[in-house]
Amino acid sequence: MDRLTIDDLQIAGRRILMRVDFNVPLKDGRVEDDTRIQAALPSIKKVLDDGGKLILMSHLGRPKGQKKPEFSLRPVAERLGEVLGKSVSLAPDCIGEETAKMVEALKDGEVLLLENLRFHAEEEANDPGFAKQLAAFGEAYVNDAFGTAHRAHASTQGVTKFIKECAAGYLMKAELEALGQLLEGAEKPYVAILGGAKISGKIDVFRNLITRVDHILVGGGMAYTFFKAKGVPVGHSLVEENRIAMAANILTVAEHHHPHKKVQIHLPLDHIIADSIDAQRGEVTPDEHIPDGKIGVDIGPKTIEAYSKIIAEARTVFWNGPMGVFENPAFAEGSMAIAKAVASATENGAFTVVGGGDSVSALKRSGLEDKISHVSTGGGASLEFMAGKDLPGVQALTRAPKKTE
Ligand code: AMP
Repeated sequence: MDRLTIDDLQIAGRRILMRVDFNVPLKDGRVEDDTRIQAALPSIKKVLDDGGKLILMSHLGRPKGQKKPEFSLRPVAERLGEVLGKSVSLAPDCIGEETAKMVEALKDGEVLLLENLRFHAEEEANDPGFAKQLAAFGEAYVNDAFGTAHRAHASTQGVTKFIKECAAGYLMKAELEALGQLLEGAEKPYVAILGGAKISGKIDVFRNLITRVDHILVGGGMAYTFFKAKGVPVGHSLVEENRIAMAANILTVAEHHHPHKKVQIHLPLDHIIADSIDAQRGEVTPDEHIPDGKIGVDIGPKTIEAYSKIIAEARTVFWNGPMGVFENPAFAEGSMAIAKAVASATENGAFTVVGGGDSVSALKRSGLEDKISHVSTGGGASLEFMAGKDLPGVQALTRAPKKTE
């Protein structure tokens, strides 16, 4: 890490302003899934245990700059309080006089949660005046919200211009180290598994990984745009017509990139097909062709076998995007089998990372989440990182002084 981390900060007695990702699902006024709250706990506990005054800030949902009570962070304050076993006060707003008073009154080891940042349009607009008001609450700043690090918002980027020490929290650090390992110095064979609905949004990931990995295993809806580019019949499967040329280009680049050792892009050898994605059951195709009128909804057994073999040999694996319409249990088998293959590669010593919202949901469904080296919490942010882009929320953190031996 070339940035300050929470471990570099003097915390005792100081006001620590921390950006976390508490954008959790709510149901009937309660937190439905507290994974993101749990993920921020190590950084939160560090500040409280070290005797800091902790000011937490987050967005929740898309209130679009308006104070909408259904997007209040109150349920989050309650759940965090339960998890920490201490009361967590909620400020009436994220800026303003009353909030400032509550910040002022904080004692060492106490925590205050600011109300939803996105009640103000200035947050996403990265308004300097708004960022300055947030910054006034902290003597040092910690960003532990990896999931929003690809956005230059007031709380992730603007605020850092007004605070001298800006550090990565533990979650942010773990994400950057794990994903960083996938881009620099990954052990080979290195296998990327890319699935999900569409190629668009993942083109840059393909381009960046082509020069680094040995195999790309393609699954999910995006496979059909590749097949279409190759002239293989795809029936009524999902195809992005305006991405066919790009898909063809990726295949050509992969072919010609390295004269000695080419990256191999693997497309499914067979499919599960159905009349619709909501069908009760599907049929297996004998090969990669999809008959007229049918849609491909999952990878077939030959593909599972071939992909699992390649994954078993890997020393490094990155998986983003499900292999089929896994939300329908009838078409989840491909994604479950890949989860199993990645978990057993991990058991055999491979370094494995699963990133992106939907592949993480598929992984959770398989119950193998704990058997993966790193499960990334940031969908969009991890894809941008893997595409080789700089994340504004990371760039904004203070550079760590060079270590002298
Ligand atoms: P993404 O967000 O791009 O990773 O895409 C995830 C979505 O892709 C999931 O909701 C899947 O249901 C969907 N998906 C995966 N395979 C297919 C397929 N063959 N046809 C249509 N949608 C698919």
